[in-house]
This record gives sequence, C-alpha cells and structure tokens, in this order.
Amino acid sequence: MAVVRSLVRGPFRLRNITVPPAPVLSVRTVPLLCWRRYSTPAAKQAVKRNNGTAQANSKEYIDFEDNVWDMNDIASAKKRIKGVSFGQDSISLSLDSNGRSESYEISYIRLRDGCKCPLCVDKYSKQRNFRSSDIPVDISTKACTWDGATLSLTWNKDVPGFKSDHITKYNAADLYYPWDLQWHSFHSTGPERRRQNWEGPEMKQLQHWISYNDYMYDDEKFTVAMRNLSSLGLVFVKDIPDSREMVEKIAARMGPLRNSFYGSTWDVRTVPEAKNVAYTNQFLGFHMDLMYMKDPPGFQLLHCLRNSCDGGESLFADTFKVAAYVRHHDPELFNKLKNTYITYEYQHKEQSYQNTWPVFEASPNVNPHNSVTHVNYSPPFQGLSTPKPSLPPSITREREEIQALQDFVNRLERPRNIFELKLKPGECVIFENRRVVHARRRFNTTRGERWLAGAYVDEDAVLSRFQVCKETYPRAWRSLTRRVPYWDSNPSIDPRATANPETSEMVANLMKQLLEKDAKK
Ligand SMILES: [Zn+2]
Repeated sequence: MAVVRSLVRGPFRLRNITVPPAPVLSVRTVPLLCWRRYSTPAAKQAVKRNNGTAQANSKEYIDFEDNVWDMNDIASAKKRIKGVSFGQDSISLSLDSNGRSESYEISYIRLRDGCKCPLCVDKYSKQRNFRSSDIPVDISTKACTWDGATLSLTWNKDVPGFKSDHITKYNAADLYYPWDLQWHSFHSTGPERRRQNWEGPEMKQLQHWISYNDYMYDDEKFTVAMRNLSSLGLVFVKDIPDSREMVEKIAARMGPLRNSFYGSTWDVRTVPEAKNVAYTNQFLGFHMDLMYMKDPPGFQLLHCLRNSCDGGESLFADTFKVAAYVRHHDPELFNKLKNTYITYEYQHKEQSYQNTWPVFEASPNVNPHNSVTHVNYSPPFQGLSTPKPSLPPSITREREEIQALQDFVNRLERPRNIFELKLKPGECVIFENRRVVHARRRFNTTRGERWLAGAYVDEDAVLSRFQVCKETYPRAWRSLTRRVPYWDSNPSIDPRATANPETSEMVANLMKQLLEKDAKK
C-alpha cells in the first residue's frame, strides 16, 4: 500500500500513521507494486482527487513512507517466495506481494554474473576473479535446486577455468530484493534513495541535533544523525568546542574533506572588497555551492564560531520538496526544468571554472517516482547560458525557460518552505548541498562579529559512510522512519534542549492527540 498511501494524502494520511514501526515490506515488492498501482483506476482517482484540493491544503504534499523495508530480512523474503521454476535461460520466482501473485524472471547470465562464492570473489580483497565478458552467452544450468531458503545452481559451459564443482548460491533475500530495484527504497543509501521532503514547519519539528561528543564518539548516535542527514538532508551538531579545528574533525567523521581552491576548510567572515558574494554583509539568496565545478560537493558544513552581529540568520529550503510538488502537479513544468540548462562560472585571475547543469537532474534509471537525483541552482554564480547546440535559437523557448525558472523560484521562496535559524557559536549545520539550498540574511557589521568555518565532503564519501553505518547499526538506521505529523499550530519546541524531538514524550503526546482528533472526524 505504500504508494497508494503516499498518493492519497490529506485526510487519509493521519489515519495511516502508525506509531510503532510498520510491518516489514520488501523493497522488491514496492517498485513493482508502484508500477501497477499507479495505473489502477483507484489510484488515478486518488491522484485526481488530490489535484483538486491541491491548492487548498498543502499538508497533502508530505512525502511519507509508510513501510519499513529491510533488505536483509531473509525470513520475510522466504515467506514471500512461493516457488521457483527453472526455464531454459532463466528462473522464474512466484511471489506473494501482499496477497497478489506476481512472478519475476532472472536470467542465468545474471545469476552467474552475480555469483559471490569464494572462487568468484576473493575472500580478502573482495575482488572478482572473472569478467562478465567471460560468461558464455548461452550459459545454462546443469542442476538447480530451491529448498525454500536457498537457490543452488551448477553450470553447463561455465566461465572458462571454473570446474564442475563450482556452485552458485543465493539466499531468499538476495533473490527477493534484486540488485537494481533497491535503489529507490527509503532505506537505500544510494543517490536515488527516497528522502523525507520537508517544508519549514516540518523541519521545525524534525530537525535533528546531536552533541559534538555523541557525534564524534558514539557510533550509534552518529548513525542516527547520518540517518537523518540521509533522509532530511540537514542536521545540526551542537556543543562544539570553540576551536577553528573542529569543522575539519566533524567533516572527517563522514569522509575525506573535499579540497578546492578555497582550501580543505575555509572561513566566512566579513572582508573588504570580497571577491565572493558570500563574504559580504548583504543578503545572500538561496543557492548551492561550487555549482561551477564538474562534481559539486555533495555535503557542506558550516561551523559557527562567532555570530554576535544583528542579523545573519541562516535560511534553508528543500528543493526536492519543490521538485516533488512540481512533478505531481505540473508535469509540464517539471519537464521544462529538466530541460532548462544553466551555466555557472567562477572567473577570476587565478581561477576559471565553468559548468552547465539542468535545474532538475532526474534519475536516468526508470523508477516509478521519476524522482530527481540533484537539483542545481546557484544564481550568484550564474554565467551566460548558451543554448544547447542541438537546438536552434528560439526566443519562445528562452521565454519559457525564464518562466519555468520564475515558477520554480516562486515556489521555492514561499515563506512556508523556509526553515530559518540563527546559528550560535558552538553549532554546526551539515546539509546536502545539491538538495538543500541555503541563504543568509544580511547582518550589521558595525557591532559584533560573525565567523563561520566551512568544509565540504563529497557525495560518494558520505554515501559510503551511510552504508557502513546502516550495516553496523541496522536497527538505528531502520528506526528513523519518522512519522511525526505535520501541524501548523505546533507548540514551540526548543530542539536545542530536546536532542531528538521524535522520541520525546511531548511529541508522542501530540501525535496521540492528533490521532484522537482525526478518529473523531
Ligand atoms: Zn562462483
């Protein structure tokens, strides 16, 4: 039901909230279900109904995940595989997907290619001892068995060099959660993982704060922070010792620091005749950093060392939330933003960088959510955009592109979208650079000081850290499917006092009240 629920929002949503973790549902099932359920009349109607009330109630756009998926759950996979039949070129799995019968085919080529036995993959180096190109295209099996838990295969015409005693084995989970369908799950740690998108008031509820000591020295609490970063794209560290060295330590806990011409760490302070607009006291609008590079950093840290000037508040907004809204409610605009390319540049005496990006970078893989993998947006560093060479110059198209950009910005900058706070000394924000745009209010430099130390970590490195955290503390990773409902009249919660509002009694009580209120309707 995951997808139907996420489409049917509004009044239905609260009723679907379950406080304890929902039953395990496989990632394997969900993408397939998505495909089908999207096309059922009921789902279509739900989308229609939702569109009808779209403007009236923005509560309806929260992307919630209703099910907890666990790719390592062999027991549940075993239950769901009803049988395996063996064909000429492939096996066919009969599956029970929540009462529906489905089948899924996996070729012998793919099964041979995925063999992880000690002959195929070196136990220590984890390097593979054969090449895909070594697999005979007409490979077939000699013997196949499925005992309800393990699939065992021996091969006819195996990869040259492999003897007849070579056995390929898969457990139920390996088969049930096939490789390429795991990308989009909520618990995935890949670039296409599902996120929990947010608007300002939601982030007010969901914001995750962790103390420096827990972040650095408590692996499980660190996992919880990484889980939130993976899902929300924004977390905060507090109680940081007052030292310029700290931002490097905090960043290095996630992965190697990204070096750039700014250095491996850098400072944001008011300096006269700044080259970079971030170094002045003017309002700095929403942007992402280093978009003029080929691989803009995936994650950014800003450690506040001094912030005693008037103003200088930090603003954040979730561009994925905007993309999700546009995708559902204005597919034409979504496509335009996918095809609107903007050039970013950094042109100075010693540096000359330039790159061009579409506003919405959508997944090249086919998935039912057609989700974005990155949003690219950084007006302060925009250069002259050159039209795509494949397209002839067209004033109409340029007008449309500017219009699309205006529509995007109008939605992004709605006050409701914005999460604002003034960082205090000893606090550090970590955010996903190509999802969460950041901005800064102007500040008065005649009195007080303002000093932030920054660093970047590449996306690859952080995704690797996510995966290691997930494997080491699977419970901590799974437990973070947050189901804090969204309400306008939220009581003021000081998140700096309650480290994890989700688990606080106060939030639990509020949820209870909401559920009761909802049940009365
Ligand atoms: Zn093998």
